[in-house]
Amino acid sequence: MLVAGNWKMHTDLRAADRLASEVVRLTDADARTVDVAVCPPSVWLEAVRERVRGTRVALGAQNVHPEEKGAFTGEVSATMLSEAGCTYVIVGHSERRRHFHESDAFVGEKVMQVMKHGMTPILCVGESLEERDSDAAETVVGRQLDGGLIGVSLRHGNTLVVAYEPVWAIGTGRTATPEQAQAMHAFIREKLAARFGAEEPVPILYGGSVKPGNAAELFAQPDIGGGLIGGASLDAEAFAAIVGAAADAARN
Ligand code: PEP
Repeated sequence: MLVAGNWKMHTDLRAADRLASEVVRLTDADARTVDVAVCPPSVWLEAVRERVRGTRVALGAQNVHPEEKGAFTGEVSATMLSEAGCTYVIVGHSERRRHFHESDAFVGEKVMQVMKHGMTPILCVGESLEERDSDAAETVVGRQLDGGLIGVSLRHGNTLVVAYEPVWAIGTGRTATPEQAQAMHAFIREKLAARFGAEEPVPILYGGSVKPGNAAELFAQPDIGGGLIGGASLDAEAFAAIVGAAADAARN
């Protein structure tokens, strides 16, 4: 199981520093049982790295550019993220797909680039409310998976995480029911098995208004392998409680 916190464009330097220290302190015991990562804004990666260095908490980035280097003003490369100490990179978050018009193919290039640099992409997929209401959720998620995984192989030590985040549940306080989430996770699991074989070791995280109060029932679902946490990851105690729920689920 993996629980990753996506801090988005939040925190100032002091808050990032303090939040990272608190996450390390409060998750230390459970991080023996589940993997824990924090994904701060890229300018705070170095500072947060100092707080998580030598601990069980891993460092992740929120985005990457698929090119190696070049004239891409404002962008950050996989080499830079790797050098900054990242082991995970969130790729294809719905906010990037929506606000920055990232296509499935572009997201797929990022996945490859992250793997090429020995880090683990957290590939985000998820349908909008209109798509769910028109029974297109599986079609959309299937297309995002196909595009995001073009050319991807899990050989040569490559690792991958998929996060199912229904857009209508992100930051809205409206969570998918455990049954809705499990149904989509089972669909994703089938697609991954068809692509990589039944033994593929890809955790599928759920994301979308996960809180301490709903984490346990989500993590109890057989195909939910952890969570990608937005709002609640900015509160160290709430985040640690979610990590605790994942550790409990992993032990049972
Ligand atoms: C996210 O943006 O990845 C997310 C899951 O946000 P929230 O937990 O705030 O819904």
